[in-house]
Amino acid sequence: MPASVRDPATLAVERRFDGLVVLTFSVPDHRHNVITPRFLADLSAALDDLERSAGRSVPRGLVLRSGREGSFFAGADVSRLDGLRGLDEAGIVRLCDAGRNLFARLSAAPWPTVALIDGVCLGGGLELAIACDLRVATTGAHTILGFPEVKLGLLPGWGGTVRLPRLIGPGPAIELTAAGESVAAEAAARLGLVDACVPVEQALDAARQLIDVETTTGGIKARRRRQAEPVTLDPRERAFLEATTAAVILGRTNGHYPAPPAILETILAGSDVDAAAAGAIESRAFARLAATPVSAQLVRVFRIGERNRHDPGVATAVTPTEVRTAAVVGAGIMGAGIAASHLRAGVPVTLVDVNARALAAGVPGILDEAAWDRATKRADPVRALALAGDLRTATHLAAIAGADVVIESVTERPDVKTTVLAEIERTVGPDAVIATNTSTNPIARLAEAFTDPARFCGLHFFNPVRRMTLVEVVRGPATSDATVATAVALAKRLGKCPIVVRDSPGFLVNRVLMPYLHEATELVREGVDPARIDRVARSFGMPMGPIELYDMIGLDTAFYAGLVLSAAYGDRIEASPLIPALVKSGRLGRKTGSGFYRYSGADQKARIAGVDPDGRRVLDRYAVAPRETTDRGLADRLLLPMLLEAMRAVDEGIVRDPADIDLAVIHALGFPPFRGGLLAWADTLGPAEVLRRLEPLADLGPRMIPPGRLVALARSGGRFTA
Ligand code: NAD
Repeated sequence: MPASVRDPATLAVERRFDGLVVLTFSVPDHRHNVITPRFLADLSAALDDLERSAGRSVPRGLVLRSGREGSFFAGADVSRLDGLRGLDEAGIVRLCDAGRNLFARLSAAPWPTVALIDGVCLGGGLELAIACDLRVATTGAHTILGFPEVKLGLLPGWGGTVRLPRLIGPGPAIELTAAGESVAAEAAARLGLVDACVPVEQALDAARQLIDVETTTGGIKARRRRQAEPVTLDPRERAFLEATTAAVILGRTNGHYPAPPAILETILAGSDVDAAAAGAIESRAFARLAATPVSAQLVRVFRIGERNRHDPGVATAVTPTEVRTAAVVGAGIMGAGIAASHLRAGVPVTLVDVNARALAAGVPGILDEAAWDRATKRADPVRALALAGDLRTATHLAAIAGADVVIESVTERPDVKTTVLAEIERTVGPDAVIATNTSTNPIARLAEAFTDPARFCGLHFFNPVRRMTLVEVVRGPATSDATVATAVALAKRLGKCPIVVRDSPGFLVNRVLMPYLHEATELVREGVDPARIDRVARSFGMPMGPIELYDMIGLDTAFYAGLVLSAAYGDRIEASPLIPALVKSGRLGRKTGSGFYRYSGADQKARIAGVDPDGRRVLDRYAVAPRETTDRGLADRLLLPMLLEAMRAVDEGIVRDPADIDLAVIHALGFPPFRGGLLAWADTLGPAEVLRRLEPLADLGPRMIPPGRLVALARSGGRFTA
């Protein structure tokens, strides 16, 4: 019988008859194990105990494993990162050094050490694992390994940048750390990040065997030597690696994110020296990154995202309906994407469309999307075949009778939607939740089609569904808490970020997007080159400029959405005359090969081939007096009306929490996370500066007039995000 020699809060130590000592950790009060100061103290104490008793019995080896299924360590406790901001550089360096030195004890002991990795092993957790001599990972999709620190604007600070390049080589180490993506156990084995990859029930045996083989062959000693010394890199190879990786990083970040280039620099500098000196380089680089505003913004975005993940979407304690099967009605671009995301998440789905041919033609694309393998960048045919069993198609609504949730995504016409929704209600069971993906119809109006409107809400996905992670859960006046909770839970199951918004024209996202788009058309009327407008938006960090976005959305769609919004908020959100003029001239955007721009083809992949001179003549009819403006002035013109509309939405209670505005613009519009979202960006200016920048724009009309809350904020010195 194994004897327990010490049983602290996060760590149990077990001395086994086979000579192994097994440290089993479990950190309470978190969804996954996270590295807390208590765990570090417990680990230190456990290693002290082992070292003290080593005179009596030397273990055959030490195994470090989790007591929680599927969770090695998800990383350091992010909730403590704010503590770093109170420290100066020397204080942060000391914290990094202390963690790295503690982990280093794992491979300095007179016995070999093995990390047994089952489940998520990220960040500080992976640093702990690679501080051991050996690693055994379990097979299965739940085991993933990676260094996501870069997503928080940081780098691994407990030895990750020192040990990883010595383990798998500087090139792969830079790629893994600077991209922040995690890898499956099998891929980790191919990289050399883990030494064995076995089913969980064989993991301990595999660890024992590895220990024995590596001890007898001298492998442990060689590994420890390699970890201590500089990395041997041919100077030409090093120069090539540096140049190509720097270019890739610049391409990915546009120079907005300091962490990836810092990772490149730290790993290369640390590879040239011994491990002790590399550790000092790492600590200083971590401390510098921790002090950057970008890291502060990314940590906040992470935190509000986590808060969202735990938010049921309602204030009352209701249990969401368990969704065993779903149905999507309307197999157009959106319905197909929504069906695919259900399949991907393991929710069987029935897809209904009146158009049998379109329905059948859409199935291969849906299966491909559902079986898309991000690592290989192609659909996994075996998985697609397996998922085919979970997808049913039909041309009649009778097929949806057993669904727990139905999402209506038919043509955006109120009469069609009302008829379809009423029939859906008649077809499904009394407890089924019914949602609409409408962009422009008020939920209250569509709810009139229902006998029981409490079961109905909006579930507004964004295009393309696979990429845009936001979903607006739109609460109508009669929608029940149970319906909202079910919609929120389902969206999360699909891997989305749901925000609950009150029913109002444009909901939240289109309402804040339209002023930005509209301002861009006004700039075009003033004679500003569309390419310059797009360039300014991109250099602010937007994934594409507003003019390109118009062409991508389609000018006919934008025209309709603009009408709805201008009818509701006409004094501020006007319908631009440019859009109907382009539509009338047959220029609908990318899909017709021309819109504001001319394209190399007539599909979403076509390249911009300049401004269409005939189109330009159409636009010139609406020209207004030009205004002098700098690039920064252009950015203000685009973003400030968006901010003012967002403030009004907060005042009107459209969102439950102002932080939802920031989540929404990041997840639906690709607003740059390094700026923290719209309100967080405004905080970097401060309300007084926002007012100052609005002053010269006042003659543009009500859309540039500050709402009362902005004036009050400027007086009180308050914050937009508070
Ligand atoms: P779409 O025109 O591509 O597809 C609509 C589908 O509905 C068609 O396949 C059509 O055959 C089907 N349909 C029409 N009447 C039907 C009926 N009675 N029963 C069953 N199927 C029927 O449209 P889409 O772009 O996929 O938009 C669908 C919904 O999603 C709309 O409400 C739209 O506002 C909303 N939406 C669209 C976008 C976007 O960018 N396209 C973004 C967000 C939300």
